[in-house]
Amino acid sequence: MRVDRSGFVVIIMLAALSGGCGAAAPDPRAATLPAPPSPPPKALAGKVVVIDPGHNGGNAANRSEIDRQVDIITQRKACNAVGFETAAGYQENAFAWSVAQHLKPLLEEMGAEVVLTRPDDKGVGPCVTERAAIGNDARADAVVSIHGDSGEPSGHGFHVVVPGLIPGHNDEVVKPSRRLGLAIRDAYWAGTGLPYANYRGKDGLRSRTDLGGLNLSKRPAVFIECGNMRNAGDAAKMSDATFRKRIAGALANGIKSFLEGAG
Ligand SMILES: [Zn+2]
Repeated sequence: MRVDRSGFVVIIMLAALSGGCGAAAPDPRAATLPAPPSPPPKALAGKVVVIDPGHNGGNAANRSEIDRQVDIITQRKACNAVGFETAAGYQENAFAWSVAQHLKPLLEEMGAEVVLTRPDDKGVGPCVTERAAIGNDARADAVVSIHGDSGEPSGHGFHVVVPGLIPGHNDEVVKPSRRLGLAIRDAYWAGTGLPYANYRGKDGLRSRTDLGGLNLSKRPAVFIECGNMRNAGDAAKMSDATFRKRIAGALANGIKSFLEGAG
């Protein structure tokens, strides 16, 4: 007989109802009671998601370190960048870190294993080469880099950056990355109410081959430019903690949609 906590309770109750006590033999009916239903498997159980919050709080004070040139296949480029900020001085690295902090537990609640590319918002880097390696080493099912953009102040909205094809290097991941990008675009649009960027990309998507984090990824990967930090309306939303939670919820929905579709 399977003896578990709930079975034990049932046996005691039956004994009490029948007026039995002490060492009464277990009621045989207890053995035929169905086992309690096990909880349904979590939607993202077994999935690994790498969240890459753009830039880092210590980058600005360590320019020589992050300006070091690294090979990103299509060019040599700075190892990392300082990032942008709003007119009021809210920094992109802080924005990305905050969204990542809200996003991580949402994905974990859905059963995913979540890996961040940096442990806090006070460090330097890591280089884009290292960020890509973290996703590759984790064999991530999805990699999402979180950024804020810096366009003309009149431009607003968000766009998702997907890897362009670099023959012989990323052939395997261009298509799944595009699917990830579409899922995130749709969920972000629906969840945040922000429009597709009207100053960059098309239909909320943009393909690039000049980003090391994408070029070097062997796993499905996208960047999202969550809004234009130089636009007053976008900046106000991105600077608002409640709105950042909304952004995280939208990203979680997009990642879930992609991973469920990917089976
Ligand atoms: Zn950025």
